[in-house]
Amino acid sequence: MSQVERQQWDVVVVGAGGAGLRAAIEAREQGARTAVICKSLFGKAHTVMAEGGIAAAMGNVNDGDSWQVHFRDTLRGGKFLNQWRMAELHAQEAPDRVWELETWGALFDRTGDGRISQRNFGGHEYPRLAHVGDRTGLELIRTLQQKIVALQQEDKRQLGDYEAGLKVFQECTVTRIVKEDGRVAGVFCYERETGRFFVIEAPSVVIATGGIGKSFKVTSNSWEYTGDGHALALLAGAPLLNMEFVQFHPTGMVWPPSVKGILVTESVRGDGGVLRNSEGKRFMFDYIPDVFKEKYAESEEEGDRWYDDPDRNRRPPELLPRDEVARAINAEVKAGRGSPHGGVFLDVSTRMPAEVIRRRLPSMYHQFKELADVDITAEAMEVGPTCHYVMGGIAVDSDTAAARGVPGLYAAGEVAGGMHGSNRLGGNSLSDLLVFGRRAGLHAAQYATGLGGTRPVADELQVTEAAAEALRPFSAEGPAEGEADEGRPPENPYTLHQELQQTMNDLVGIIRREPEMAQALKKLAELRARARRAGVEGHRQFNPGWHLALDLRNMLLVSECIARAALERTESRGGHTREDYPGMDRDWRRANLLCQLADPTGGLAATDSVRGQIKLERVETEPIRPDLLALFEKEELVKYLAEEELYE
Ligand code: FAD
Repeated sequence: MSQVERQQWDVVVVGAGGAGLRAAIEAREQGARTAVICKSLFGKAHTVMAEGGIAAAMGNVNDGDSWQVHFRDTLRGGKFLNQWRMAELHAQEAPDRVWELETWGALFDRTGDGRISQRNFGGHEYPRLAHVGDRTGLELIRTLQQKIVALQQEDKRQLGDYEAGLKVFQECTVTRIVKEDGRVAGVFCYERETGRFFVIEAPSVVIATGGIGKSFKVTSNSWEYTGDGHALALLAGAPLLNMEFVQFHPTGMVWPPSVKGILVTESVRGDGGVLRNSEGKRFMFDYIPDVFKEKYAESEEEGDRWYDDPDRNRRPPELLPRDEVARAINAEVKAGRGSPHGGVFLDVSTRMPAEVIRRRLPSMYHQFKELADVDITAEAMEVGPTCHYVMGGIAVDSDTAAARGVPGLYAAGEVAGGMHGSNRLGGNSLSDLLVFGRRAGLHAAQYATGLGGTRPVADELQVTEAAAEALRPFSAEGPAEGEADEGRPPENPYTLHQELQQTMNDLVGIIRREPEMAQALKKLAELRARARRAGVEGHRQFNPGWHLALDLRNMLLVSECIARAALERTESRGGHTREDYPGMDRDWRRANLLCQLADPTGGLAATDSVRGQIKLERVETEPIRPDLLALFEKEELVKYLAEEELYE
């Protein structure tokens, strides 16, 4: 194989969404030469799709808000399984990150007296989401891109080259992290357009590749969400944390089939939208769980009064955390009270004047008009749960975003685990990207600088193996002589992907049962064996079938992590609902589940088809610091904490 081109940088950031861009800006500002690599076009990351807003306790609309209240809401939302130090840093630093965006040119919607406006969202006690209509992610990415261009212009002035300190490699995919002596040495990548391989050598790698939704059939996620960063970390020897927690957003479109899963933003409910079943009943009042009873309205009248007078009324249950609302919708449909296309009704048309709907929810108005021929100012939408977000992810140090066990590896954004516990509150992702993106960039730069001249070099053998792995689909063969299905052609990656999505949707979806998850693991083992024979025709120039064949490895790894951890956790909590263990078990609060590769050398071929590629380890959660526990009433803690924790 011909020599693969190498380039040297200090920090390489994999992913150009909110987390990746914020990390890159910070690393460059720390003086580290920084490369950003993304598999989509620059500016087209999934973050662009974010609609509702960025959660930050700025107190602009209600001055009762503070970081302590935000921290409390985040822990309640995550059912106390959050990595509490992350939740603390997030709540404390989010306002600064939003104000910083404004100084970089972001144009947020304003309050009457000219401050950044903040809107209500599920699980947030006060109006907290800074927003730009329902297109907040677009403004966030535009602002971060603009900042990157400004830094590049500065480099041009000072060093004569726009790309001297910060370079973006767009439409390039990373398939392996390369190491030397256990430390990160760089990444192996291919250019999507030409198929050319190259290596970026850097002692620090920040993974910011987003989520995993494309492993499920019904999802709000974009094409990029194939769990690449999760898999890259696993293959490099870093564990994944609590992968059983997958968020099913309660409101995705259900009709027509071609758009099933596309998100209907929570802002619709935050701004007054209500959920009704086929009998016209606002059913959420029947689904307020005990732990939230004191905080939510008991009657429609009280819930409606809350929008104008939140200090003297309790919020409507449509604004419960997402896991609660998704389960309630699921139950209504199952009980035969669903809408014609298998969802429920979400109505703003009877709640706000048409011009207010068009102004506050412009994307939703156009989305329904153009995709479903529904005018949301005049009729109700049909909605149902859709796979939206993964709370599980790379296990990181809360302060530095360093991945556990692999020096030089960092992770931020949706790909990192811990911050959101078992369930994320809406708006807490965009703030997470900014807070931990900055921290990851900072510490990755400091680590690289601290190494001085003793930098790891990407091992030639690993580079050769990565290239061979990437080329395998071009020479794949069907089952060999004597094997089952002998004579069959190589597997079609699209067929495998569809079967994987169906399996995850049907067997490891919103409501989980032991026999189904066991069945899913069997099916995943079969798909894994078949995926090794996934073949493609044609050449390396922009070949989507080839790209998918490579992504399959990642989706299969991540799906196995989800299924194994979900089978192991015998309780229901947040984004993990077991029909056979319907209650939250306080003893399980003490347990984190870590997924690691069964073969620690990072190889996949030799793994056992029955036991699979992943081994699980149960580790104890770190006790929550007493001054943070003191932010809660004792009666509330009793509902969540294990007996011995209460004594401690
Ligand atoms: P992304 O923005 O997805 O970026 C990932 C990057 O990694 C991309 O550049 C991609 O090309 C790159 N990449 C992936 N794999 C590879 C690879 N192998 N090699 C190279 N590059 C790779 N959250 C909120 O807080 N508020 C909201 O209002 C909100 N609304 C949402 C609306 C929708 C429709 C959806 C789907 C999500 C929403 N979320 C919201 C969630 C939030 O948008 C995401 O969690 C967040 O944007 C993830 O950002 P990220 O930087 O981690 O990843």
